[in-house]
Amino acid sequence: MTNPLHDLLFAARAGSAAPFLHLPGGRTLSHADFDRLSARIAHAFVAQGLAPGDRVAMQVAKSPEALAVVGACARAGLVILPLNPAYTPAETEYFVTDSGARLFVCDPGDAEAMAQVLDGVQVMTLSADGQGTLAQAAADAPDTFVTVPRDGGDLAALLYTSGTTGRSKGAMLSQDNLISNAQTLAREWRFTERDVLIHALPIFHTHGLFVATNVVLATGGAMIFLPKFDLDAIVAALPRATAMMGVPTFYTRLLDDGRFDRTLAGHMRLFVSGSAPLLAETHRAFEARTGHRILERYGMTETNMNTSNPYDGDRRAGTVGLPLPGVELRIVEGGAPVAPGRTGTIEVRGPNVFQGYWNMPEKTADELSPDGWFATGDLGTQDADGYVTIVGRAKDLIISGGYNVYPKEVEEVLDDCPGVLESAVVGLPHADLGEVPVAILVAQPGTSPDLAAVEERLRAALARYKHPARIVVADELPRNTMGKVQKAALRRTYADLLA
Ligand code: ATP
Ligand code: MG
Repeated sequence: MTNPLHDLLFAARAGSAAPFLHLPGGRTLSHADFDRLSARIAHAFVAQGLAPGDRVAMQVAKSPEALAVVGACARAGLVILPLNPAYTPAETEYFVTDSGARLFVCDPGDAEAMAQVLDGVQVMTLSADGQGTLAQAAADAPDTFVTVPRDGGDLAALLYTSGTTGRSKGAMLSQDNLISNAQTLAREWRFTERDVLIHALPIFHTHGLFVATNVVLATGGAMIFLPKFDLDAIVAALPRATAMMGVPTFYTRLLDDGRFDRTLAGHMRLFVSGSAPLLAETHRAFEARTGHRILERYGMTETNMNTSNPYDGDRRAGTVGLPLPGVELRIVEGGAPVAPGRTGTIEVRGPNVFQGYWNMPEKTADELSPDGWFATGDLGTQDADGYVTIVGRAKDLIISGGYNVYPKEVEEVLDDCPGVLESAVVGLPHADLGEVPVAILVAQPGTSPDLAAVEERLRAALARYKHPARIVVADELPRNTMGKVQKAALRRTYADLLA
């Protein structure tokens, strides 16, 4: 009997003295150290009465021990449910209760309050420096653990989506979902045991957990494991690293730093971007500065990764590349595939596609068809060469007087105007037209955009119905932890703008 996820990610290098985690302060954990740590935690879970299939919710600071909780769940057949520490107690209570978690692992400072609201859920603690009741329970446990047999179809993780378009939904991911993506990405991006990945992403989200970490685990390399994105730490890490994965804001922030140049990036072989759109302009500026072309890819909690620009071929700025091997992708409108270059909803099918939304059979049935196609809710195009471009989210599409306005098309014109750093276009309710587009601009530092000139550009570039009914200048755009612009928040903030 086997446990495919544990076998692929952990067991293969369980005895290896090769480094796995390089930590701030100079400490290094080998693959073997990590294996022993996760074995001890797995014993602590079993001693707590957890049985295969039980959910373990974890809301803690990023640490090697937190990552070992994920490994412990894999080997003990438990379902990991990582949660963003930024959630309020009420949000956390919803996720833990909705998931039916048996155990909640949280920071020692949160334990008392959470124990009161979480009825019937066991609470253990783990601090940022690896202390707490879970660490105590694990301390004296054996270093080896008899792996619990699992099937590839068994659930491995319950991961809630980021909640950009509404309440987060729990995506059920099987062992095979995670395995297929880890193997595909490792191969496509040429990861080997010689790689050292800068890991500055959170580990409660698919990007940091299942893309970054699993690719390294599947190939036996190492990570420079940073608690968060910190420019000084990244600058210090770059000369020792071979690869980095980040959200677009990582790259714009690096470009803003004078220390970041061709020499500093000289040892790197790969920069990957995802989770939010990378501006073509950032892609070009990055290449001009470092000689590297950022590799952009596209994925989501429900599917892991779907498309990627090629490692060897043409990495096209502004696109998310080609469907990954094994992933089928189509663009549909009104249930039928559209012609190349036309916009529609992106649908995907493959071994990466999740098992459905936890406790939401109707939502699952709406979005996941019986023949395996998942409607992503993203709008996009695919050109004749197969390259996919994300146009935006279906929920952000503006329908004004019966005409479709794709916010990205308007944003691209705005972003090109002198003095404009970035922009967001959202639809606001309108008595006559149903909705009209409204633009929120952020100025380049030290400038203020000439709004008359901006309007002039819009008139020259776009049909009348696409012109924003109002343009406002704001200090910044609201973004969540993954760097996604929160358009729902913008719609709320400016709800009365046209009143
Ligand atoms: P929710 O589904 O709860 O509204 P969410 O979709 O933001 O939240 P995630 O699963 O974290 O939650 O994010 C996936 C989404 O991120 C994709 O559907 C897509 O809209 C966006 N995304 C990911 N990668 C890219 C990319 N390279 N370019 C543009 N958008 C991207
Ligand atoms: Mg989503």
